Amino acid sequence: MGAKLTMTAAHQNVDLSSAWARVRDKLRAEFGDATFSSWFKPLFLAEAGADRVVVSAPTRFVRDWIASHYSMRLNDLWRSEGVETVELAIREMPARDPAIAERPRGIRRPESSTDASGDVHAPLDPRFRFETFVVGKPNELAYAAARRVAESATVPFNPLFIYGGVGLGKTHLMHAIAWHIREATPARKVVYLSAEKFMYQFIRALRFKDVMAFKQLFRSVDVLMIDDVQFIGGKDTTQEEFLHTFNALVDQNRQIIISGDRSPSDLDGMEERMRSRLGWGLVADVHATDYELRLGILQAKVEQSGARDVPTRVLEFLSHRITSNVRELEGALNRVLAYSNLVGRTISLEMTQEVLKDLLRANDRRISIEDIQKRVAEHYNIRLADMHSPRRSRAVARPRQVAMYLAKQLTTRSLPEIGRKFGGRDHTTVMHAVRKIEELRATDSSLSDDIDLLKRMLAG
Ligand code: ADP
Ligand code: MG
Repeated sequence: MGAKLTMTAAHQNVDLSSAWARVRDKLRAEFGDATFSSWFKPLFLAEAGADRVVVSAPTRFVRDWIASHYSMRLNDLWRSEGVETVELAIREMPARDPAIAERPRGIRRPESSTDASGDVHAPLDPRFRFETFVVGKPNELAYAAARRVAESATVPFNPLFIYGGVGLGKTHLMHAIAWHIREATPARKVVYLSAEKFMYQFIRALRFKDVMAFKQLFRSVDVLMIDDVQFIGGKDTTQEEFLHTFNALVDQNRQIIISGDRSPSDLDGMEERMRSRLGWGLVADVHATDYELRLGILQAKVEQSGARDVPTRVLEFLSHRITSNVRELEGALNRVLAYSNLVGRTISLEMTQEVLKDLLRANDRRISIEDIQKRVAEHYNIRLADMHSPRRSRAVARPRQVAMYLAKQLTTRSLPEIGRKFGGRDHTTVMHAVRKIEELRATDSSLSDDIDLLKRMLAG
């Protein structure tokens, strides 16, 4: 089985397996540990050719899920490693080939179904506590609501729905609630997991005809926390089961806490009754950070890290320049701290600029979807409002598709985020636009020229 590789040159295999390791690292950094272990960890590199790889999944379900949710990102990451074609397959694990495949550890062996009633609870991050959460204007409502739920012996609002963009502290708040309840009232059964894991468990239960155990398990908890609920959209059976579980728990007056990347009413791909149900309790949004909050977070992190001698100027500089999200802000600080630690240099503004050169450049160059819409509208002589309007005539639809395509290419926004910026369109509409333009570019040279020109204008 080790001979699966179609490339014979040994060094090429080694290159591709380290490329695969890099791709996996990026996926983990981008999507977080929970998502990574559910979906990416079980994948392995089954075949590797000069510019083509086959990535295998252990089951059809996992493969389909990857194909419908993550294939674009997977393709992009492979492309950045010089691999043009990525095929997704379903395949047994190769018996031995440690250089290429890493046996997934997070995944339990499929022949046992006992875990449907066992360990569904995702691990809590020990750093994510109320004490380490910095409160500012953008997150004060979400914080207050989280604290109330954590400290209340009764159920103050059901559900608590926390929503906001990536890296703004939603998971942190949820873990903080779970830690607090676990410590203050250990008898209460708290279950925290990602929506993807919930679905994964449910599908497993279906497969092993163990749905009863699944139902019992979820319906016996006192506090149920589901992170990143937007991933439940689309799957009818799991939505249905989620709704049943939800209703059963609410009826028994158990606390439910949910996070999502957008408000309940904007959760497209979710049934109407589900959306309205999710909005019944308290809906609290976490806004993008402002300068004060970023500075406060950095100061707290420095204090926690025990590092001394980080000049305020450096923290101010970082708060000004890294505005995207808290995760990146933390990452930047950690890099500076690690660097100074390793080479024994004191931290200064110059040193920070040097260490973060590439990161800062990427932040500067960051093109916004608004820029793209404006440029494209100007170029095609349509109104900016038509980027958001429901009008479908070719004269506006095509430029809109071009803008969606550029947004996917030039920004790090996800398909749903892009859709939202285009008048609340569905992520499938964006996906369709991207494919359409890719297709057209190959045959329509004037369109292809337009796109190149727009790209140059946007980058310059
Ligand atoms: P989300 O779930 O919203 O994508 P996370 O909760 O994973 O974001 O937060 C990303 C990182 O930023 C985590 O390391 C978290 O501790 C940190 N973070 C976010 N907001 C705050 C805050 N207000 N105070 C301290 N740390 C924060
Ligand atoms: Mg999160």
